[in-house]
Amino acid sequence: MSRLKAAVASINTDALCHNIELLHKQAPNSRLLAVVKANGYGHGLIEVAKHAEGADAFGVARIEEALQLRAGGIVKPVLLLEGFYSASDLPILVANNIQTVVHCEEQLDALEQAELESPVVVWLKMDTGMHRLGVRPEHYDEYIQRLHNCKNVAHPLRYMSHFGCADELDNPITSQQIELFKNTTANCTGERSIAASSGILSRSDSHFEWVRPGIIMYGVSPFSDNDAQQLGYRPVMTLRSHLIAVNELKAGESVGYGANWTSERDTKIGVIAVGYGDGYPRMAPNGTPVLVNNRKVPLVGRVSMDMLTVDLGPDASDKVGDPSVLWGEALPVEEVARYVGTIGYELVTKLTSRVIPVYTKDSI
Ligand SMILES: *Cc1c(COP(=O)(O)O)cnc(C)c1O
Repeated sequence: MSRLKAAVASINTDALCHNIELLHKQAPNSRLLAVVKANGYGHGLIEVAKHAEGADAFGVARIEEALQLRAGGIVKPVLLLEGFYSASDLPILVANNIQTVVHCEEQLDALEQAELESPVVVWLKMDTGMHRLGVRPEHYDEYIQRLHNCKNVAHPLRYMSHFGCADELDNPITSQQIELFKNTTANCTGERSIAASSGILSRSDSHFEWVRPGIIMYGVSPFSDNDAQQLGYRPVMTLRSHLIAVNELKAGESVGYGANWTSERDTKIGVIAVGYGDGYPRMAPNGTPVLVNNRKVPLVGRVSMDMLTVDLGPDASDKVGDPSVLWGEALPVEEVARYVGTIGYELVTKLTSRVIPVYTKDSI
């Protein structure tokens, strides 16, 4: 037997570069803040940032992620999308040239009271209707004034907001959010940003000076009803493993924990070395598609920690060691997500540290 590695995530950096180029074409007048939070949506924080040559800046959610980027040699601007969580983070932002969002009074107070060696680049976040983070429009001017007067804040200020429903193409809230953002910042000179993936793809009037692509950069659609490949983007991740057993199953016999699937015919069951311990969702139901030797076969029986089982069919000639793809170019993660009742975002982000990342390019 040749040496096989189970549960490998191949990350195609050519696909990543293709997607970034396409994003620049789609938002030709905007700069691109590439969102690499949550370990680059499961694709590897540093490796994604290193290969994302077309990105103008990076967005992360945690200060630890920003510091990892700096420690990994990334010198482009880095923005904390939710801002800092405590005043003691401020000197760290200054020392590492990290930009911050300000979305609440506590952050504003901390900035005003800090003694810093140099000013911080601040993006003032407006709540335009999502009601998660941000300053309400009626208080926006007051925040702008205080930030303008604060010696710790670099000028000009920058302005941002976030859509709540831009993945629903006919939801009127998106237009209302754009109008509100535009009107409230009409007299501001600084750069603006509101669009993440769904806004970039569906609303060119939301692009402003900066767009903030996350999921679409990884070749996964932000929309529930179409896959990124239909929009010209290429999946960056392929989750692979292989068969570690092929077993005969007789009609009437069941497979796996809880015996929740029973075969109606004599068949062959393939056991694949991937499970929820790798981040493959345990909730994946019977019938969820899996590729074995590039052929779509149904998942049957409950997903266990290290393995899952598929119905290869009575005539299968698949052998131990044969390759399997859980999602990727030939099986969009969006399709798997629909079976599981979640979104592609969650599947790619939830891979565990046991999965071996392998960085590849297009084979020629
Ligand atoms: C995560 C995030 C993004 C990227 O969102 P996608 O839908 O993955 O493109 C953009 N902006 C903010 C503030 C975020 O938190």
